[in-house]
Amino acid sequence: MALEDNYRHKGLRKKLIEEIRKKGIVDEPLLRAMGKIPRHFFLDSGFLEYAYEDKPFPIGSGQTISQPYTVAYQTQLLEVRKADKILEIGTGSGYQACILAELGARVFTIERQKLLFQKAKEFLPAMRYPIKLFYGDGYKGLPSFAPFDKILITAAAPYIPDVLKEQLKPGGMIVVPVGSGDIQIMTRLTKISDTDFEITEYGHFRFVPLLEDKAEDC
Ligand code: SAH
Repeated sequence: MALEDNYRHKGLRKKLIEEIRKKGIVDEPLLRAMGKIPRHFFLDSGFLEYAYEDKPFPIGSGQTISQPYTVAYQTQLLEVRKADKILEIGTGSGYQACILAELGARVFTIERQKLLFQKAKEFLPAMRYPIKLFYGDGYKGLPSFAPFDKILITAAAPYIPDVLKEQLKPGGMIVVPVGSGDIQIMTRLTKISDTDFEITEYGHFRFVPLLEDKAEDC
């Protein structure tokens, strides 16, 4: 893939950011980060005209890169601070991981589809962010690297797994679309203490499902 980011790409990206801003995203550092990262790098070449539409797009293995507005919405709820240690579940194309890293976070990301994991592992080093990629089942989290300041789940979870709550620092947050049907409710869980959690529900979204059990072999 040619990693060219020219004036046309930058112009399209600027328009996309304005669109997202109009839809209600107010986090300026986040909008700047999204304005900086070339989303077309994360789509197969030939789909350039789709990269800067505010829509999800297929990335192979039946998965999608989330709609830019959705990426912005989830990231805004996560209140990313510099040096935050963040676990992302559902690497997919790696786009969301790069947004978190551009905001100064140390990112750990897990993917269960081997082909997507391999693709991200080959491509992401070119972006030069401190992102660590793992192949495995996100339901289990990443116990050897826990605890995390934040956990971001980018697939629809029928419930919030207890192990993920355990892998969160006190004061930490999980942002996750919760629901087992077609539509999920964006949810933010804040860990007040080891036994005390606060849950706030936000808007409705549509994600691919977070799949349980073993990581897929292929
Ligand atoms: N964040 C991605 C989009 C994610 S789509 C991006 O920026 O492109 C959701 C991803 O979650 C898919 O790639 C899917 O394979 C992955 N996924 C589903 N269940 C999972 C699980 N249990 N553990 C890890 N990844 C999972």
